[in-house]
Amino acid sequence: MHEFSVASMIVERVKGEASKHGARKVRRVEIKLGELTLVNPEQLKFNYMVLSQDPILRDSELIIEVIPGEVSCRECGFRGRPTYRDDPALHLAPIFSCPVCESPVEVIKGREIVISRVTLEF
Ligand SMILES: [Zn+2]
Repeated sequence: MHEFSVASMIVERVKGEASKHGARKVRRVEIKLGELTLVNPEQLKFNYMVLSQDPILRDSELIIEVIPGEVSCRECGFRGRPTYRDDPALHLAPIFSCPVCESPVEVIKGREIVISRVTLEF
């Protein structure tokens, strides 16, 4: 997924939370980012900073916990990190495969983008 659209999704959700609770400011946003989303944490932080110029979000901190990817292979029973081609053109629909037998795999973990905690100031 594209860093910019992920960042704007986070910003929108967090703004919604803040106004729902009548907060004055957002101090910190913690997210869990699956490795297999291929979202670059540094680029995500940069985009978040660019998009959070709203007074309620300005100077808030984005903390990213990267969740390692895990896949399962039906052919050989492998479980663990997949291999994938690091091709920017494929980032929107990356193809993961088994590092042992190269078969296509099923993703178990690592595709999530979850806002785990938002710290507000009142
Ligand atoms: Zn395999």
